[in-house]
Amino acid sequence: MQPDASSYRADALIAEDIGAYLDRHQHKSLLRFITCGSVDDGKSTLIGRLLYDSKMIFEDQLAALVADSKRVGTQGQEIDFALLVDGLAAEREQGITIDVAYRFFATDKRKFIVADTPGHEQYTRNMVTGASTADLAVILIDARKGVLTQTRRHSYLVHLIGIRNVVLAVNKMDLVGYSQARYDEIVADYRAFATGLGIADFVAMPISGFKGDNITAASPNMPWYRGPSLIEHLETVALDEEALARAPLRMAVQWVNRPDLDFRGFSGFINSGCVAVGDAVRVLPSGRTSTVSRIVTLDGDLPRAVAGLSVTLCLADEVDCSRGDVITAAAVPLEVADQFEATLVWMADEPMLPGRPYLLKIGATTVAATVTAEKYQVNVNTLEHVAGKTLGLNAIGVCNLALDRAVPFAPYAENHDLGGFIVIDRMSHATVGAGMLHFALRRSHNIHWQALEIGREQLAAQKHQRARIVWFTGLSGAGKSTIANLVAKQLYALGKHCFLLDGDNVRHGLNKDLGFTDVDRVENIRRVGEVAKLMTDAGLIVLTAFISPFRSEREMVRRMVAEGEFIEVHVDTPLALAEQRDVKGLYRKARAGQLKNFTGVDSRYEPPPVPEIRLDTTTLTPEEAAALVVARVLGDG
Ligand code: ADP
Repeated sequence: MQPDASSYRADALIAEDIGAYLDRHQHKSLLRFITCGSVDDGKSTLIGRLLYDSKMIFEDQLAALVADSKRVGTQGQEIDFALLVDGLAAEREQGITIDVAYRFFATDKRKFIVADTPGHEQYTRNMVTGASTADLAVILIDARKGVLTQTRRHSYLVHLIGIRNVVLAVNKMDLVGYSQARYDEIVADYRAFATGLGIADFVAMPISGFKGDNITAASPNMPWYRGPSLIEHLETVALDEEALARAPLRMAVQWVNRPDLDFRGFSGFINSGCVAVGDAVRVLPSGRTSTVSRIVTLDGDLPRAVAGLSVTLCLADEVDCSRGDVITAAAVPLEVADQFEATLVWMADEPMLPGRPYLLKIGATTVAATVTAEKYQVNVNTLEHVAGKTLGLNAIGVCNLALDRAVPFAPYAENHDLGGFIVIDRMSHATVGAGMLHFALRRSHNIHWQALEIGREQLAAQKHQRARIVWFTGLSGAGKSTIANLVAKQLYALGKHCFLLDGDNVRHGLNKDLGFTDVDRVENIRRVGEVAKLMTDAGLIVLTAFISPFRSEREMVRRMVAEGEFIEVHVDTPLALAEQRDVKGLYRKARAGQLKNFTGVDSRYEPPPVPEIRLDTTTLTPEEAAALVVARVLGDG
């Protein structure tokens, strides 16, 4: 789609369908912004001032805030303002660890939602959450202090999240005698830093939130400043949506209406561009093309629709299209890939572990994903790149990601909806991270799985067996190796082809580069899983005897193979008993502090909640335990 054609359409929309235009205009008149700064920078005072001066603070909201501040004041404008600010600060302090406080106000030109987020480093994730929907960021600086570490950190995050409108509000000008020299110095300082960061432009203004200078109108105290007041700027700044409307069409399909609803339509939110009846479109990832036959909304059919609207598109041809697919302009499709470089912001206490399977939600799709490599972490205070393997709470890193299937995407810088994602823990379903895709890795396009002519079924049939992974898990000394060896012997005696992968034999070779930290344990099991999977592809019954302490990785291996092929065997021996056996003397060493990260001592073991087989070694002999496993392996094959 030519940019000219789409800008013509925006105008045409006004001419032909004023209702739709007004609809959009109403949507456009909401500005979401975030204020960055710490309590000391006067953030609460500024927000209080905006609410107060816009006269949009609701009576009950004010009463509640004032009650919160636990101060009783006399009536009168100045007192009310002070109480309001105290109330905001008190509320912020109480809610500080919860999340982001969103406050609403309006002028006759625009509506505003301001996300008030805590400024300290330990609340980086809150700031990212608050900023993720913002059109603009106000970065507050205390005129007495100038550009600080936190100014740099906040600016970096704002830039990372892709907020293009940045206001540098040099606050507390009343406390530096409204000095133009001081203001110029701070702006120059900030400009040097911002340019290095890639912030192309920002609007600087000298203000006093406390006194109200340059908040709603030009301040008589600073005649040397000729720019707009803060409110004037917020009311008139151009929104990103206009640029989005001119970009090529992208609509992530949220759901598909079934043919039994008398028409087959694809519903979603138009992320960018516009679409008209008769336009050629392409459905990704399949790449099939068609033309738009109808644009349906709750208020009836439209001849055309623009970014920001939710619509249902009907296509002229029967094309496959499901939830998570993206409908694009036919001539300007999106890239489809399964490996990316991305920036990841970690939001969970439990660190990100490369190789661990997570869920990734991008657009309207959720896919399985792993971090294949961490390239570097960013020190958010100095912006230095530092080497790292994991990401802790609030850490930010640049990583390579691998998804389990290819998805259509746009680089985050182009389209936040199709390039931004969240990371979800597979077990708890909690959001543990958020990120931005940079680009697809070239290898993503070049590796194609070799279709084998002699497949795993043939190889297993040749051996008169079904391929299996029999996964023993349990504490050190639980009896995994002992029982697995007995199982291997019995299977061999029965003419079965099996192979025992044991912790020690793998750690001496394939995994000799790995230690016992959480990161290395995850990678250890990931590799073992891949090897076991390859062996099942050869038609073997694979027995593995690894502590494999974490549920996530065992579940990952389970998902690598077909349903029923993975048999999880929990060798359930109480810690006290395993420690008492202490065949290899390892518990003694661990207790003496000579062995770090020992499972059961100073590293976790997560028992499987529903293993296929649970062996209680306090009641079963090794032989009895082995017989149970053999029966299961043969019985259901
Ligand atoms: P792991 O492989 O789980 O680290 P090992 O098999 O190397 O454990 O060690 C388990 C030890 O416990 C062996 O010395 C084994 O003889 C002993 N043991 C005692 N009772 C049992 C039982 N019921 N099942 C398995 N092992 C047992």
